[in-house]
Amino acid sequence: MPASHLLNLGFLEADSGFFVRGGNASTASNLHPEPTRRKLAMISVLISHPTEGLMLFETGAGKEYIWGEQLNDIFARVDYRPEHELENAIAKTGHSINDVKTVIMGHLHLDHAGGLENFVGTGVPICVHEVELKHAYYSVATKADLGVYLPKNLRWELNWQPVHGSSWDIAEGITIRHAPGHTPGLCILQINLRESGTWIFTTDQYHVKENFCDSVPQGWLARDHSEWVRTHQMIRSMAKHTNAKLVFGHCKETLDLYKQAPECYM
Ligand SMILES: [Zn+2]
Repeated sequence: MPASHLLNLGFLEADSGFFVRGGNASTASNLHPEPTRRKLAMISVLISHPTEGLMLFETGAGKEYIWGEQLNDIFARVDYRPEHELENAIAKTGHSINDVKTVIMGHLHLDHAGGLENFVGTGVPICVHEVELKHAYYSVATKADLGVYLPKNLRWELNWQPVHGSSWDIAEGITIRHAPGHTPGLCILQINLRESGTWIFTTDQYHVKENFCDSVPQGWLARDHSEWVRTHQMIRSMAKHTNAKLVFGHCKETLDLYKQAPECYM
């Protein structure tokens, strides 16, 4: 059975309106509400699998947090420490980034795919839903959603391995599920562990716990709302039937509830 480490890949801070619908909205009785900002964690999961070796789910923002002056100002990196670098975060678990055998991507937005730079030319398979890969390339090439997707994270020299269909049992105890909404090809990851039970890593279907717990959709970062609602129904059912622990895309408050590397869950 696999074991998994939760990796903290650093923090961002931005206006709450990006993550929670209606956040910071003015009203007739309060034309100028005090804007609230939200501190977010970037999260990755390292799975040590008995037959597949080390598997990594998502990769954070990458070594050089350079998205351009405007984006850096909107999504400001805060409380940076070298231990947040992917290589160092993996080293904390006693493993080396060079030993990662498979990378699974929930989606390819810049704050998740930046760490793919470590795998260019290595031949390590990068598993991502075919719809996400197509959408990411289209978004960059046509500039339809350039900014959240970056050309530097879509290098053709990466060993892209498309995931097809609605779900794929990539290894014993590990299932990738297509969960469109935040992006058309987003996938969540389900991991079944012997002692701690079922875990669901939602990537940015949910940025913060309110999106799931209170069914409040995402704010300005929402894309396809109808698909988001359908996926929300699926994950609520999964969570109920498996009594899963959920890890949301960026919810620092949720991450803080769990043990982080070097500790692990069995
Ligand atoms: Zn994100």
